[in-house]
Amino acid sequence: MRKLEPKPFDEILSNYFNEKFGQKEESFWDREVGTYHASDFGKCLRKVYYEHELGKRESENSYPHFHLGNKIEDVVEYSLKNHYGRDLIKNSYRIELNFGDFRVVGQTDPVLVGVNGEIKKLFEVKSTKSLKFREEDGPAEHHVMQVHPYMAGLGLDSCTIVYVQKNDLKVLSYDVCFDKEKFARGKNRILVLHKGLTGGGPPKAEPFCPDWECDYCKYSNECPKGGD
Ligand code: SF4
Repeated sequence: MRKLEPKPFDEILSNYFNEKFGQKEESFWDREVGTYHASDFGKCLRKVYYEHELGKRESENSYPHFHLGNKIEDVVEYSLKNHYGRDLIKNSYRIELNFGDFRVVGQTDPVLVGVNGEIKKLFEVKSTKSLKFREEDGPAEHHVMQVHPYMAGLGLDSCTIVYVQKNDLKVLSYDVCFDKEKFARGKNRILVLHKGLTGGGPPKAEPFCPDWECDYCKYSNECPKGGD
């Protein structure tokens, strides 16, 4: 079989990809006790605790993954603007919920607004390797938890989670209604995290945390999985 020699172009592109997409975006993962992310509503609390205490960064291999996810969000936003009109789709909104001792902040994905600027609909975009589980099981629970602070912050009673399959851009979306009990549960979980970070120590490894989260967790060395 003929041996393929790397072309100069391969190196040019690889170098560009590494330079452009091989680094984290500044401040993306910065953590401060008392300020938590909307996505923490649905994460393993012990993992978030370690993010604060140990500050370990995502592996460099994961940065391109985030950049590609952002590009898919751009494609969805472009498509929504094409459908609704450029002026009616806002790129994102910042939300901030104050709960006394702590706050939850977040940056939404595209939002549909009315002609007077009123917020009408939130889209949360998730890129995925495969839609198989989402087709079988519906929206992932940690995504449903994550959109609750967004809905609360924007005053919406529903939103749409849009899954996009990376290899062919196949789309599957679900409408999710605001559920007071889920929101209260998420808030209480963050309170447990906050108490842990202000002297209580690591929260328990929870049954809430799915197996895949442990499999990909950067703290698996520090955490006796399923311990406590
Ligand atoms: S290994 Fe699992 S239980 Fe432990 S911190 Fe990571 S995600 Fe949580």
